This record gives sequence, C-alpha cells and structure tokens, in this order.
Amino acid sequence: MNSDHVTKKDDLIVIGGAGGFIAGSLVKYFRDKGFTRIRAIDKKPLPMWYQCVPGVESLCLDLSEEVNCKQACEGATEVYNLAADMGGMGFIERFRIECLRSILVNTHMVEAAYNAGARRYFFSSSACAYNTDLQKDPQVRALKETDAFPAMAERGYGWEKLMSEMFCQEYWHERGMKTFIARFHNVYGPYGTWDGGREKAPAAICRKVIEAKDQNGSTIDIWGDGHQTRSFMYIDDCTKGIDSIMHCEDLIATPINLGSSELVSINTLVDLAEDIGGTKLERVHLMDAPQGVAGRNSDNTMIKQILGWEPDTPLRDGLAKTYAWIERQYQDRKAGKRTVS
Ligand code: NAD
Repeated sequence: MNSDHVTKKDDLIVIGGAGGFIAGSLVKYFRDKGFTRIRAIDKKPLPMWYQCVPGVESLCLDLSEEVNCKQACEGATEVYNLAADMGGMGFIERFRIECLRSILVNTHMVEAAYNAGARRYFFSSSACAYNTDLQKDPQVRALKETDAFPAMAERGYGWEKLMSEMFCQEYWHERGMKTFIARFHNVYGPYGTWDGGREKAPAAICRKVIEAKDQNGSTIDIWGDGHQTRSFMYIDDCTKGIDSIMHCEDLIATPINLGSSELVSINTLVDLAEDIGGTKLERVHLMDAPQGVAGRNSDNTMIKQILGWEPDTPLRDGLAKTYAWIERQYQDRKAGKRTVS
C-alpha cells in the first residue's frame, strides 16, 4: 500500500449530515477507531443531532451554501458527504423538490473538497438511482451496478443521486480527485429516525408494534399489500462498508452497491417485529399509501469480488437491536425525556 492510501489518525476528516442517522454513526465509528480530528456538520441545530460524539468539532452549517462548504472543507484530508434531505417512501414521494435540491449540497461540497486539496471524497448515493423499470416485480432480480443505465431513476430523490454520482466521477476523471460512491440499500438500526414522517419501514414497523402493545391495540397499519420486497442493511455494516469503499483504490469513481442481499417482503418484516415484540396483530393494509417500487434487492457480486465482504448482519439480529432501542426511545418520550425524533 503506498503512503497516500493511509489516513493518519490526526488527519482531518469532515463528515456532512452528521446530525442524522448514518453520518452520526460514522462519526462515532471513526472516533472509536482513534481518529482525533473529526469535523461533523449538519444544518440542524446541535441539540437536535441524533448523536453528539465527544471530542468532535460539531458545527451547525447549511451545506447547500457554497461559503459554508468552503468553511467545512478547510484543511480536510477526507470528506464524507452524507447530507441530504431524505426519508422513507412517504417523504421522498411527497417532497421531490426538497430531494432534488440536495444536489446543491454535493455540488458545493465536492468543489470545496477539491479546492481544499482533500485526498478522498465520499458520496452516499442510493438504490433509488437504479432504473425503476427493473423493479416492477416483488420477485425482482437483484440490482447490479450497471442497472442504473439506461437511466429511469426514482423521481426526484433518485435523479439527484444519479447526477451527484456523475459530478463525483468527473472530479476524478477531469481533475484527479479520488472520489468514491456507494449506493446504499435501506439502512436501519439504533439512532435512526423512528417517527415523524421520515422514518423507513423497519423503524416504522417496530414503532407500530411497540405502540400497539403499549396501548393494548390489536391492529397494525401496513402500507400496501405487504408483498413489496426489499433488503435492509444494519448500520454497523454500513459504516464498515463506507470505510472499506473509501479506502479501496479499485473503487475510485466507481459506484458500488452497499446493501444486504437478504430479500424479504414487508409482511415478513412485520412477522419478525411481532416475533421480537412477542405479539401478533391484525393487519390493516392501506392500499393508497406510498409503496415505492414492487421489489428491490442488492446484487453483491461486485462488492464480494472487490472487498471480499458483503453486509452480513442477519435481519433478525439487527432488527432485535433496533426494536430494543426504539422501545427505549418510546418509553423515554412518554416520560417526557428528549429523544432523537
Ligand atoms: P438522515 O436524514 O438521518 O441524515 C441526513 C442529515 O443531513 C440530516 O441530519 C439533515 O439535517 C442533514 N442535511 C440535509 N440537508 C443539509 C444541508 N443542506 N446542510 C447540512 N446538513 C443537511 O438520513 P440518513 O439515513 O442518515 O442518510 C444519510 C445519507 O445516506 C443521505 O445522503 C441519504 O440519501 C443516503 N441514503 C440513506 C439510506 C437509508 O436507508 N437511510 C438509503 C440510501 C441512501
């Protein structure tokens, strides 16, 4: 390995979106690995951050503003851009303009990182960048990296990701900055949004089961017929994957799937959450609710070939930890304590 590949423990790492779920966990991950200079940034005021990691420079800045990106990236060796206006299907189908506007964040961040002389730049893309025509059947063929083109991404959110990927690729090809792009497939785990409208299916379902138990309810609302399929990646696999991808020379400017390949239906996800909660509820299927594509899975051939690894936390194990965390959050909120969402 040449010395350019090794990030020193006192090199400055900049992480955008750090008040949210994944970037907050990434800050903690690098801190636990012994990195001493981390700058964490989010537009949310600090008291609203999901995690505030001690010993980290935490700044409240709106990264859709060029001037703030310059400040954020000053002196950076590595920049991780995970800042975006995002949420589950309910959010991205309803707020397409907000999602598209996240293009400002990546456009200014990648330029600021380049001008600051950063050695590596990471962008969090999404499986929503894939062609939606390939996702019309619950028994979907898993999506491989080449399936993004010909392009027919998810309206709003998916197109923003695809365009931002292109920016990152050209900063390597035209200007020689090493950029890295992971297409995340549904990430879940503790410290993720679990209420308020931006939460994704695993957190929403855990919360509904917990709520029903707490209020002696006997039913659970499910968006659609529950036959939609997805794969879900546990947060620890996500942070490990980001680190591995960012430091792999074979993956420069090359979008790669970062997701689990354990395909389940939403009904199975509900079965699991009920099982963990020790309850059984009557299902009420809301057919008019947002459902997204019929099926989506991650083809992990490329990540296994290049990194010799794939996200491998069994859904049952990750969901049990997530359920326990949401249950504590739920109780804390009832007791009037501050919670993450
Ligand atoms: P999140 O909503 O928990 O975190 C995103 C954070 O970005 C938020 O705290 C938000 O305040 C911040 N942000 C938004 N606009 C900003 C701006 N202009 N300036 C500064 N901060 C800003 O979401 P997450 O689940 O942690 O997602 C992180 C990244 O991963 C996003 O880019 C998202 O699109 C991508 N992603 C997530 C998933 C998933 O399942 N969670 C799947 C695919 C892709």
